[in-house]
Amino acid sequence: MYDIVVIGGGPAGLTASLYAARAGKKVMLLESNAFGGQIAIAPRVENFPSVMETSGAQLADKMFEQATSHGVDFDMGTATVAPAENGFVVTTEYASYPCRAVVLATGVTHKQLGVEGEQRLLGKGVCYCAVCDGAFYKDKHVCVVGDGNSAVQYALYLAEICSQVTLVTLFDRLFCDMELQQRLLATQGVVWTQGVAVTEIVGDECVKGVVCKSDDGAITYIDCDAVFVAIGQQPHNEAFASLVELDEQGYIVAGENCLTGRKGIFAAGDCRTKSVRQCATAVGDGAVAGFLAAQFVDRA
Ligand SMILES: Cc1cc2nc3c(=O)[nH]c(=O)nc-3n(C[C@H](O)[C@H](O)[C@H](O)COP(=O)(O)OP(=O)(O)OC[C@H]3O[C@@H](n4cnc5c(N)ncnc54)[C@H](O)[C@@H]3O)c2cc1C
Repeated sequence: MYDIVVIGGGPAGLTASLYAARAGKKVMLLESNAFGGQIAIAPRVENFPSVMETSGAQLADKMFEQATSHGVDFDMGTATVAPAENGFVVTTEYASYPCRAVVLATGVTHKQLGVEGEQRLLGKGVCYCAVCDGAFYKDKHVCVVGDGNSAVQYALYLAEICSQVTLVTLFDRLFCDMELQQRLLATQGVVWTQGVAVTEIVGDECVKGVVCKSDDGAITYIDCDAVFVAIGQQPHNEAFASLVELDEQGYIVAGENCLTGRKGIFAAGDCRTKSVRQCATAVGDGAVAGFLAAQFVDRA
């Protein structure tokens, strides 16, 4: 039996496992996709304390190495949780893990535009990760859709690879860090098309362009070879809705102490109700949840 099962191997889950293992607990870390979570696809991270500059993948690798070097067990699988006599049973497609406490660190994923062509051309020019797919569009013209930190990071990263990057935003302003904005405006090869909504992604075998519509109804067409969508995030906590309270958007209701309404279940990182979703805040949550989950096990 495990003391603690951590669900989600992003920065929050990796940190929660590390803290729980260092508190002497037997810990299983479960991940459905790839250890590292979202940060693993960040082109460049410059705001994680003590690290001047790194790729998200490097940061994620180090976190994983650190957690496992402290004895955290890990496995792949999409986890669900059910109450049991002495705690909980966490189940994946492959195995079941009885445990005393659970840390939910399921993060968020990218939102989709939901426009014609997006699903059909997925993998044929429609992309959600600049680090993963940017190199396929060397010396090509790409569009980035979005106005936050991720979108601007994508545009800056792609500007180093592609012949032209068109950043398409719904409003006439960006919602990213000022430093990123200044860098974007000073970068050659980036065109900013403001105040339009992408209404269609066009192409037969692969992306050929995007159709945009402005507030006054004017339609424009942008020729491009790929579209990188970076328009926000979506939590996926439906599987836990019978155990813990979710807010209207699907985030797990929990405060800075990472306590949910259910004894023995903690929520850490981007998956919980909070105002700043970043790597630094995710690892902060991970430390709190890992520590308090270990204390819970000791007192149970
Ligand atoms: C492109 C990009 C650039 C970014 N750049 C920065 C940056 O420069 N600085 C910064 O501080 N932050 C950055 N962020 C944000 C940062 O990556 C996130 O805030 C952070 O990763 C959140 O960590 P988390 O562990 O809470 O969630 P996530 O990183 O989302 O990890 C959650 C993990 O849980 C897994 N999971 C979900 N459900 C289940 C389940 N049922 N069973 C098993 N596993 C499950 C998922 O597969 C995922 O791996 C960036 C994000 C993106 C997408």
